[in-house]
Parts: sequence; structure tokens; C-alpha cells
Amino acid sequence: MKTTAFHLVTRKETPQDAEIISHQLMIRTGMIRKLGAGLYTWAPLGLRVLQKVEQIIRDEMNASGALEMLMPAVQPKELWQETGRIEDFGGQLLAIKDRAERDYFFGPTHEEVITDFVRNEINSYKQLPINFYQIQTKFRDEIRPRFGVMRSREFIMKDAYSFHLTQESLEQTYQTMQQAYTNIINRIGLDFRCVLADSGAIGGSGSQEFHVIADSGEDAIMYSDSGDYAANLEKCEAVSLLHERQAPTAALNKVSTPGQKTIEDLCKFLAIDSSQTIKTLLVAGTEKPVALVVRGDHSLNEVKAANLAAVASPLRMIDDEEIKALTGCDAGSIGVKGLDTTIIVDRTVANMSDFVCGGNENDFHYTGVNWERDANFDAIEDLRDAMVGDPSPDGVGTLQVARGIEVGHIFQLGNKYSKAMNAVVLNEQGKSKAMEMGCYGMGVSRMVAAAIEQHHDDKGIIWPANIAPFSVAILPMNYQKSERVKQAADELYAKLQARGIEVILDDRKVRPGFMMSDFELLGIPHQVIIGDRSLDENQVEYRNRTDMESMKINRDTIETVLAEKIKA
Ligand code: ATP
Ligand code: MG
Repeated sequence: MKTTAFHLVTRKETPQDAEIISHQLMIRTGMIRKLGAGLYTWAPLGLRVLQKVEQIIRDEMNASGALEMLMPAVQPKELWQETGRIEDFGGQLLAIKDRAERDYFFGPTHEEVITDFVRNEINSYKQLPINFYQIQTKFRDEIRPRFGVMRSREFIMKDAYSFHLTQESLEQTYQTMQQAYTNIINRIGLDFRCVLADSGAIGGSGSQEFHVIADSGEDAIMYSDSGDYAANLEKCEAVSLLHERQAPTAALNKVSTPGQKTIEDLCKFLAIDSSQTIKTLLVAGTEKPVALVVRGDHSLNEVKAANLAAVASPLRMIDDEEIKALTGCDAGSIGVKGLDTTIIVDRTVANMSDFVCGGNENDFHYTGVNWERDANFDAIEDLRDAMVGDPSPDGVGTLQVARGIEVGHIFQLGNKYSKAMNAVVLNEQGKSKAMEMGCYGMGVSRMVAAAIEQHHDDKGIIWPANIAPFSVAILPMNYQKSERVKQAADELYAKLQARGIEVILDDRKVRPGFMMSDFELLGIPHQVIIGDRSLDENQVEYRNRTDMESMKINRDTIETVLAEKIKA
């Protein structure tokens, strides 16, 4: 490709609305352009990268035995009524009406459509197991589309769905998918972690997420510093920090704490550590309000809380008026003594003794509180966020934290969808059985942004070799005026093309400095600078985008040197 025949529109300025580096660089390089909120055009440059990611995904999915297909993006509402998921997805669903006033959704995911396909196509266990996938445009009306294609409303996903007679068969394919995802992200060239995850609105039992490690990641990934354990903070088990409960040593005391509303203020006022206090949070329950109790220096894990049977989902904190009606005090003074709700305490809280809690009366707290003697709870659960320094829940090592970008999520769904939609097969005994199902999503467009988050410097993108839009950039100095430079550049260009190497030659009439910084920004892995001065010595200048160190290479060998570097 020659730049004058390509569409190359780079920008020097950092776009104002782009908060993270990948968004900035995708706009500055001209890979994407915004059409509206969460809607982006992939320009030819961006599409080259997107298609490389797609191809790696396709290769590995095919190698795993999955079968590619393509379902409609627009889905009849009735299918979603069968699974009852309209509520779960809520505002994310884009509703559409046709001219006959029939209702549709633009698909945010395809469990319903594939299950409908499969219930009509598959009726015998002999056709199982089977794994279908597609690469397709999804729409989710995200509350806060942001970061460009990282969290857009329209985006491209690879979604796969497997069907099985037995749980064992599902587990096998799940393993195969885990390996395929590992292969895909390794081939793309990114540093990632596979972590335990919450199943969210998709449902089902086991699930794991694949996170590309990057400081801008929206998720906190907890991992053991010396073992294999890794989990999304949402899911990460938090162990009790107190092995057993000590016998009470202090007497219960109601103390006046005027104006001490936060834990921090209270601890200063009473000259105690926050680990001696508890926080009592009132949330809406499925039947009645529920008090969730975590230690003063811990924070409530909202995903764990919402997953409790007694707690309403989505999680809703009870408002000030309701709190007043229930306890007679404000939120800052709630405590566990004499509280008339279901009380669920965190594992650590269950082992606390001689602690401090709100007095259920404004401006009062209790000190020296002890379970059983002074207050009781109904259940012990894992309620808090795990923290750096906690023992790893598998007993191996200590937890550390990293930021991650979720690029993939795999689930064992069981028969949730097949039961709801009556997708059954006859088993070996001729009995009808709902199929076991797995689903496996991967964010294709997000992967491109994630790659940039992980691979850039202050000058621009540094493409991992397998997804670079071009492998080699030929940068001739004075292409327009020096016939010798033009000839050398064109000749190398033709030779590389003949070898099937993806090469871009910058034949624009621009200043050398401008050209250099453009190609630093674009991040093409191998750059060859051709100028009159080096040609005098029968040489060209080679630079690798990763280290930017330049070296002179003999003109006659540059082609083979490049071919070697690209193969490696
Ligand atoms: P997130 O937690 O980031 O909102 P999700 O859990 O809703 O994602 P899944 O339903 O698991 O996402 O979808 C599969 C994959 O699709 C995700 O792992 C992610 O890579 C990608 N994806 C989901 N939502 C978006 C989005 N709004 N923009 C770009 N990619 C997305
Ligand atoms: Mg997910």
C-alpha cells in the first residue's frame, strides 16, 4: 500500500473527550471516528487491525472444533419473553418496532436465538456435543458508553454456544474454550489473566473472565503472589481475618458520640482503630430489609450482596427516610444491638469481640459489644471486598491486585435456557432431556483497544507483530525529488510485496520529521528509512518500533533481514 492510495489522516492534538490512551491513539491515528454516543466507524486503517484480531479468533475457534455461523442481529421480542430476560437486561436492550408494530430487540447477546435454532435442529444426543460461534455486531445501550470502542454501544463480539447431553461433556468443551481463549490472546500478543468471575445477568454456574492487564482497566483483579488463585474482585472470596472469636473482656457501654457520623470521625473521637468497629448497611430484602455488616475498615462487595437469597437484586440501599422509620436514627448511627431486621454478618465480623457499633440512636454508640451476650446475627456470609495482603482463599500466598480489561467471558450455563425454551434431545434410553449449555463471549473490538492500552509509549502505538496493520513501513526521504531514493524505495516495496509481507510506503510529499513522527504514532513494527546519504554507502536505516534504535543495513540484504525479523 502506498499512503497516497490509502486513507491516512492523523492528528497531532489529543482529542478532548478521550480519557484513556487507547481512545486517544485510535482517534489520533485515524483508526476510528465517532458517529454518535458509543457508535464508531472503523476506518480502513482500524479495520485492518480488527480483521487480524478476528482472523486469529476464527483460526483458534475452528481449530477447537467450533463451527462458524451467523445469526440475525435483530431478534423477535417473543424469544426474550420465553427466557424472562427482558427485566435482567433492562435499559441495555435497544427495542425496535417494524412497520406492523411488531417488537424486536437489537441483539446484545444471542442465547435465545441460538437456543431457538438448536431446539429446531437438534433432537438426538447423537448430534451432541456441538459448539457454534459467530463474529457479529451487538448493541447494548450502555448507561455510560466511554473510552471509545472499549465500552461502546455498538461493538463486535465473538460469541459461541455449546450444547451437551451431560455436565461432563459441557465441562470438557468449557476446558477446550479456556484453552482456545488462552491461545487467542497469546497469539495476539497480550499479557492477560484468566480469573474466576461472577455470572451476572447471563446466569448459570461456573464462569471465568479473561483480562488484559492494563492500568486503565475497569476491573480489579485479585491474584495470589505465589499461587494460581486469581479472581475478579467482584467474585474474589474474602476469608475471615480472625481465626476464632475471643471471649468478651469489656463491658457493654453506651457512649455519647455527638456529631460523629463517619467511621473515621468516630475512630478519632474514641481513639480506636477502625478494625474495632463495624459498619451496618441496610439494604432492601426479598421479604424485609436486611442489615449487612462488615468491619469498619472493610467495604461491602455489592455483587456478593446482591447474590444473597435474602437480598433484593439489583442491590438497593435503603434511603434515609426508611432508615429513620426502621431504626429511629440516621444512617451513621445504625448498630446491631436491638436492630429488628435480618442481620447477615461478614465472616470476619462474626469472629469480632469487644467491638464498637452504632447505638440506633443519633449521637450514641455502643462500645464493648459482644455477639450472643449483647446482639445476635442470623447468618454468616462472605460480604466484603477482598484486600491486598489478605491470605489467598486457596491457602497459597497473599492477595495482590492488578487492573484488568475484560476481553472474554466463558460460562457454564447448565440448562437454564434449554429448560426455559424447551430445547431437548432424546438420550440413549430414548428419554427426553434438556440440553446442557455453555456460552463463550469475546470482545473483538475491545481487544484492539486493550492491545493499545498495553502496547504504547509517549510517541504512539507499538503494535504486537500479529495484529499490526502493516508489518513494514518504508519511509523515503525526498521521494518526490530524488529519483535514486524513489527507485530504491519502490524496489524494496515490490520485493517485500512479492514475499507477501504487508508493507506501506509513504509517498506523501511531507517533511521527514513529520513522516517519522506519523509512523511512530502509527506503530508499524519495522521501519526502513531510505535517504540519499545512506544510499551513497549502499545502505538504508532500519528501526524497530519497540526500541527505536536505528541501525544501518546494507541495501542488498535489507529484504532478507526484514523477512527474518518478521518470521521470528
Ligand atoms: P462488561 O462487564 O465490561 O460490561 P459484560 O460482562 O457485560 O462486560 P459479556 O456479556 O460477558 O460482557 O460479553 C462478552 C464480551 O463482550 C466481554 O467480555 C467484552 O469483552 C465484550 N463487551 C461487552 N460489552 C461491551 C461494550 N459495551 N463494548 C465493547 N465490548 C464489550
Ligand atoms: Mg462479563
